[in-house]
Amino acid sequence: MAARAVDLCVALLHEEPSVASVTRVLHEHGESGDLVLREGDVARMRAAAERLRDVLAAPDAGKAAELLNGLLAEAAHPPRLTSHGGTATWHVHVDSHDDAPWEEWFLASSAMAFAVLLADHQRVPGGLCASASCRRPYLDLGGGSPRRYCSARCATRERVAAHRSRTPTR
Ligand SMILES: [Zn+2]
Repeated sequence: MAARAVDLCVALLHEEPSVASVTRVLHEHGESGDLVLREGDVARMRAAAERLRDVLAAPDAGKAAELLNGLLAEAAHPPRLTSHGGTATWHVHVDSHDDAPWEEWFLASSAMAFAVLLADHQRVPGGLCASASCRRPYLDLGGGSPRRYCSARCATRERVAAHRSRTPTR
């Protein structure tokens, strides 16, 4: 769930998020069938993604917890089980109902997923890529030292750039 939340954030925080790109991420994470997603939904989901990005950018677990508590108080509803009328296996939702707006579902379920991760690992559940040209949100699933980059690609690029800047030019 947290992986889906971050992948959606990445798609939504792109310069020009599209219905197609967001739909693709939803399908990649198991949403099946025809998704009715409109431009307005994407714009509202983007606003939610910006708030989730703030959680990942938090300096410490305490600040991230405070932000998550605010999001949960605003968007989450009592946990409930649904099978979407028998079309899916039983799973837990924290949005208000099966036809809740996309942005409500996205904000509530993502905040819940991040909160569970924070409680499991006692640290901010992710971060923003340390590469100034990237700044993409990433997930930190704990285990070992905290990550700094979204991907091996960004880590390598920054390492090469740092090496070049140390090498004297002749
Ligand atoms: Zn990156």
